Amino acid sequence: MITASDDGAQYGLVIANHGYALLVETAGGVMIPCVGRRTLGGIYCGDRVRWKQADGNSGVIVGVEPRNAVLARPDTRGNPKPLCVNLDQIVIVGLATPETGTMAASDRIRIDAYLAAAELLHIEALVLINKADLYASEAARAALDATTAPWRDAGYDVLYSSTRTGAGIDALRARLHGRRSVLVGESGAGKSSLAGELLPEREIRIGEISSGIGRGRHTTTVTMLFHLPDGGDIIDSPGVREFRLGKIPPAELAGAFRDFRPFLGECRYRDCRHVNERDCALEQAVADKRLDANRLASYRALLDPQER
Ligand code: GDP
Ligand code: ZN
Repeated sequence: MITASDDGAQYGLVIANHGYALLVETAGGVMIPCVGRRTLGGIYCGDRVRWKQADGNSGVIVGVEPRNAVLARPDTRGNPKPLCVNLDQIVIVGLATPETGTMAASDRIRIDAYLAAAELLHIEALVLINKADLYASEAARAALDATTAPWRDAGYDVLYSSTRTGAGIDALRARLHGRRSVLVGESGAGKSSLAGELLPEREIRIGEISSGIGRGRHTTTVTMLFHLPDGGDIIDSPGVREFRLGKIPPAELAGAFRDFRPFLGECRYRDCRHVNERDCALEQAVADKRLDANRLASYRALLDPQER
């Protein structure tokens, strides 16, 4: 592994960011608080950087390696605010209704939004329905399978897991192995429980990172990177867990629905937004049962109201 660059700087990985405060993990696995050179602009959790020792036990970041996938959420003015970078995968933790295995429309739309976000970032996505122990009856499991079928049909993997019984956790570990992932999804779906299961040293790490970045116990706004015991990372913070899709132009949004792609370009109007236009190929595909009606409904719900 190369640990030093030509200018004498060391390579490192940003494992936490809180505003301008950054914590870098050195090639030797040591954490060092850093600030970035002003000219570098924003630096985020997941960035590969070059840093130099400054006075005391702190450093200055002098370079940022090219990054891929920037996970951002719109700020109050609608401008994208990066949360973390260099992701490989979004794990979408969904929640169905116990006993019945059905899912509220709003929850389905949120899963579709995250899937679209993963497509737009060109990274993998996994749908994970946790609390599988609550869908124990054959009927509930069959209903859950029907609920999740549109995602499988669109080419996504769907896993069921339970932190209570341990079911599916090994399959989840296998999917996280060697990748850098975020767990997203609505509150109550089981993200904390899953993180606790996957990251046995999590609490210790949170303590180390918090003191390293000078946040004491106010860790909730710090975005942190955790290493999985078997390789791979998880980036976590409330902002990351609940990030939102920003305003996406209709054509781009439709392209981010994998299962729409065979039909795009087949509508009567070239600029069809697939809302209420005549001879819309997506509408026709739904009528022909070649496309799931809920997926089209999600797309419409996610369109910027001004575009509808
Ligand atoms: P988060 O808001 O997504 O982080 O969800 P939590 O991890 O805090 O979990 C919400 C609630 O669901 C807690 O009461 C957990 O104990 C419970 N929970 C988590 N995982 C499971 C599971 O696999 N099965 C069941 N039955 N409950 C779970
Ligand atoms: Zn159309």
